[in-house]
Amino acid sequence: MDTLKSKIQAEGQVLSDQVLKVDAFLNHQIDPSLMGEIGDEFARRFAGAGVTKIVTIEASGIAPAIMTGLKMGVPVIFARKHQSLTLTDNLLTSTVYSFTKRVESTIAISMTHLSSDDHVLIIDDFLANGKAAQALISIIQQAGASIAGLGIVIEKSFQVGRQELEKQGYRVESLARVKSLEGGQVTFVE
Ligand code: 5GP
Repeated sequence: MDTLKSKIQAEGQVLSDQVLKVDAFLNHQIDPSLMGEIGDEFARRFAGAGVTKIVTIEASGIAPAIMTGLKMGVPVIFARKHQSLTLTDNLLTSTVYSFTKRVESTIAISMTHLSSDDHVLIIDDFLANGKAAQALISIIQQAGASIAGLGIVIEKSFQVGRQELEKQGYRVESLARVKSLEGGQVTFVE
């Protein structure tokens, strides 16, 4: 997706060989117009895949997920990372090690919103080692639902996330595939 790649080149900040900061349009300030295009693109790629629900993880997955849900006409569920007084019933949980925060946390979705009739598209902002994706897959499987695939805004292809997910048979669609962040430069997989 050329607009996304241009935005990464213009406004992304390479913090290290491993970490890309995109707080200008995705992780803190959000560009609604770009999110709209992202929603269009995921909807196009997963058209005809029989998606009934979108699942993401708070907070940064919500913006691209909601735009995709809008375009596909399906509800969006976000896994919560924090305990909530109102989220108490029938919880499905999984643990996830955060690549950026370096801590393990528990994420949860209420069973009320997922069933074995659902065919789920997972959306997230970044794919690094795939830990967040694996935690979401575990929750969706606990609900007995099936998985249509994963839609990732920015994949860091030099980390193992895609490889691991493909090994398990999942379809991974990434809108920008970063080959390297070395020397402070972002290069993309062609
Ligand atoms: P994974 O679970 O695939 O190892 O990492 C994915 C999660 O970590 C994403 O949901 C995202 O929040 C965060 N993440 C991983 N790498 C980066 C990065 O380079 N930049 C930012 N902003 N977030 C990242």
